[in-house]
Amino acid sequence: MAKFPKGLSTIKGFLSSEEGESLYKISKLASNLGSILEIGSYCGKSTIYLALGCRKNGKVVFTIDHHRGSEEHQIGEFFHDPDLVSTQTGEVDSFLEFRKNIFDMGVENNIVPIVARSSIVASAWQTPLAMIFIDGGHSLETALDDYRNWSQFLMKDGFLAIHDVFEAPEAGGQAPRAIYDLAIASGLFSLFLEVASLRILKRL
Ligand code: MG
Repeated sequence: MAKFPKGLSTIKGFLSSEEGESLYKISKLASNLGSILEIGSYCGKSTIYLALGCRKNGKVVFTIDHHRGSEEHQIGEFFHDPDLVSTQTGEVDSFLEFRKNIFDMGVENNIVPIVARSSIVASAWQTPLAMIFIDGGHSLETALDDYRNWSQFLMKDGFLAIHDVFEAPEAGGQAPRAIYDLAIASGLFSLFLEVASLRILKRL
């Protein structure tokens, strides 16, 4: 089993250690084939697992987040974290925490943060991707946009990872599951790996 830096599992975030290890394995595989992109960096937990896989091959992960928090992170919402409110603006801002974490885990040189809305980045993007990890906003509209805007860049034999795919509505929001179902129904993907709420599809 791979060794992960001390403190990685306690970074703020919604990714389990076994999900993180799967992201690491796939990024180690995919970063040999082409570029890797994450949508939804938040505090960097999943980004660091992806970066550790990239580092094995001397590669980088691109990670997109406006760092103003998703709908569910806003003040008064269920996943709001008061630690992430900027003292300057009084608004949610996860970028400082993200920078601190990628520095502490020693992977700054394997991460290219893009601080912007993913739809804006997609409109300017031109690089084929060997792996895409969708874990951005969990509203249906945002998740659908991320799937439609980014899946077109995935190379043949590339990997599409989706987080928070829950079968039962009681277990969690259904937007990630909706895009997972769409991907499967398209006939363009096969299920490669399933770990907790993480699904990794392979582009046929
Ligand atoms: Mg998630």
